Amino acid sequence: IDAVREFFERNNANIHRGIYPLAEKATAKIEEVRGKVAKFINASDVSEIVFTHGTTEALNLLASSYGSQFSQKKGVLLTEMEHHSNLIPWQHYAELRNSPVEFLTVGGDGVLDGRIIDSDGNEAFNTMNMYSVISFAHVSNVLGAITTPKSLFEKNQKIDTKAAVIVDAAQSVPHMPVDVKSLQADYITFSGHKMLSPAGVGILWGKQNLLNKVEPLLYGSQMIVDVSLGSAVFQKPPYLFESGTLPLEGIVGLGAAIDYLSDIGMDKIREHEIRLISYAIERLKKVDGITIYGPLDPSLRSGVISFNLRGIHPHDIAQVLGSKNICVRAGHHCAMPLHKKLGIPASVRISFGIYNDEEDIEAVIEGLQSVSDLFH
Ligand code: PLP
Repeated sequence: IDAVREFFERNNANIHRGIYPLAEKATAKIEEVRGKVAKFINASDVSEIVFTHGTTEALNLLASSYGSQFSQKKGVLLTEMEHHSNLIPWQHYAELRNSPVEFLTVGGDGVLDGRIIDSDGNEAFNTMNMYSVISFAHVSNVLGAITTPKSLFEKNQKIDTKAAVIVDAAQSVPHMPVDVKSLQADYITFSGHKMLSPAGVGILWGKQNLLNKVEPLLYGSQMIVDVSLGSAVFQKPPYLFESGTLPLEGIVGLGAAIDYLSDIGMDKIREHEIRLISYAIERLKKVDGITIYGPLDPSLRSGVISFNLRGIHPHDIAQVLGSKNICVRAGHHCAMPLHKKLGIPASVRISFGIYNDEEDIEAVIEGLQSVSDLFH
């Protein structure tokens, strides 16, 4: 909040346009954040960091570029547990190009089981060179399950990595150390608002040699070096993808959030969350009539825990908990296909941040007891 206020009070001007000192100061502030993001995820170069309005936009940017090159033979491999933001853009472009969209399936333990199905649910026996893109969530926003390219490739021996590997890291970057070099992805995407920054700002990271071949999603504004009436010559990444005015104060807020998280240490944050996950799962398991979705082993999951209570609608649970000032999500969490697979219309989801502790979990458990008393 202080960083955002300071930006408005002292540095507020549009960037990469004006040559007056205030505009230069604003530009420097934003570019400083680009450097912080690069360091935070261990990118090789600041030019690999693209500011977007969030994960959804970043995934749409990649889908529009890769999707325009899909063919009847080559499409995309996703998983059954994707957020709609990592499903619908691919469906859209695949439909335009009549290309396959296929899915790694989730087993009963809430992690990928290595099978692949088509969108009708039929087993697909494709070889991996059928895909120009493999895109999946690093952490499922419903199951909490952690998937890495390595674990995915081990699960499915058929996979070779010639496809571009995109990792939707919206649920991982805020909660655990993410190092793009050891992750072995080609691109990752994430959003500021899940990591204590203002909403409306997100990041696309891509390997430089690949980003250089990505087509922009938005055209116009500052993404050019020369324009004539008939054509334009474009800038290189990242500016190629940053057309229009960016959410400047949000980016500055993201920089402050990164400083804050880095000061604590992402390792410590993960440790804290693992402790809470273990505690919560042990306590939740004892609640009468509960079904917990996703892996129960804390080392395989992050701190989003979805569940249902037998015979009680998730919205009722969320409403009762809400009346006790316990804020939980209830619904399909933008992952309808996964809920359909689980055979449920909705689930309740608790999630942790560094600000939570065991007392919060006890409050949830007590709250669930009141829900049971009320509805049974
Ligand atoms: N992917 C995952 C795994 C998410 O949890 C979310 C947000 O809930 C998104 C994508 C979309 O993020 P945003 O709304 O910031 O674009």
